[in-house]
Amino acid sequence: MQVAIRARRLVPDSAAEPIEDGAVVVDGDTIAAVGPWRDVAAGDAEVLDLGDVTLLPGMFDCHVHLTMDPAAAHTSAAPTLTDEDAAALMVANASRLLDAGVTTACDLGAPGVVATTVRDRIARGDVEGPRLLVANAPITVPGGHAHAMGGEASGVDEVRAMVRRRAAEGADLIKVMTTGGFMTAGSRPWEARYSYEELVAVVETAHEHGMRVTTHALGVEGIERAVAAGVDTIEHCGWVTRDGSRFDERIARAIVDEGVSVSPTMNSACLAQDYFCPWDERDHVVDNLRSMHRAGITLVAGTDAGIGLVHFERYADGLSVFADAGMSPREILAAATDVPPTSAASPTGRAGCPPACPPTSWPWTATPPPTTARSPARCSSWPGAGGTP
Ligand SMILES: [Zn+2]
Repeated sequence: MQVAIRARRLVPDSAAEPIEDGAVVVDGDTIAAVGPWRDVAAGDAEVLDLGDVTLLPGMFDCHVHLTMDPAAAHTSAAPTLTDEDAAALMVANASRLLDAGVTTACDLGAPGVVATTVRDRIARGDVEGPRLLVANAPITVPGGHAHAMGGEASGVDEVRAMVRRRAAEGADLIKVMTTGGFMTAGSRPWEARYSYEELVAVVETAHEHGMRVTTHALGVEGIERAVAAGVDTIEHCGWVTRDGSRFDERIARAIVDEGVSVSPTMNSACLAQDYFCPWDERDHVVDNLRSMHRAGITLVAGTDAGIGLVHFERYADGLSVFADAGMSPREILAAATDVPPTSAASPTGRAGCPPACPPTSWPWTATPPPTTARSPARCSSWPGAGGTP
């Protein structure tokens, strides 16, 4: 039985002209037709008329933490829940993400194997949620950022073994911490972690197992080292220094030349009215984003939802920060719904976090997404604030 989903406006992809009175015809889990209602409406299809909305391809969130509760008083990277409670929280958060219009998400940090387990439950249709790609515990130096999740490793042999362990767990990709983070006291976000040799070992071993590597990199030195070592994607890319931030044109060129995608994790914390991002003053953070865009870096949408005060329902806030940095609506739509166009043709085979999704199997979403959670005012109690030297 086919279902024809009709909407006042339809945008088939970020490069297409909007279609007035459009429809998507779905046959089981496959999109059978997309176009003007008068052209694609099938005789016996069940009709679902959404009315005055704009129908878009499903959106990506390339950086979430579904096992974390953004409303918790003291969210941190340290797991405090039992596996059963973490799985229940993950399912609830996945549903919130789906309601916000996100149909593919990357979980970039969860303890144990709860993330792979919930990913599989969603894939089987046991519970609702976006298609998930998961990293399980990030690989980090002893005592480093998010070490409490269980991914501590040091030296070439240990990091190789840790990548193999993630592969055995069934993780989809590897996350490695190449700088400290604001959520782990004492980890120093502006300082690099892991030697070039250790990072190359992570990338080589992951690629041998068919897994891509993304890195948490806030500081300038860690960003540069990660690019040199051959990571596929950079999270945050905050250009953080000891006393603020400093965009580096030369390193940005290397990011472009190497075909590395950046997920800058803009979110509710980066909005002008509620600003509480700890990296630097807002003007500098938005300027850095503008500079990355102008340099030609492929930007993909990711929010870091799950960390303190960054709610899954507020996915669209991050897209509005892209607009503040000068990206056009089409460019923002591409960052949120397209596989980065350079990735498929890239000689290194690198790509952003989401897998290539043939247009015929794209999930679709109707805007505007609901915004049920309220973002609180600027907050001095950012997780880790005060504990970071
Ligand atoms: Zn994160």
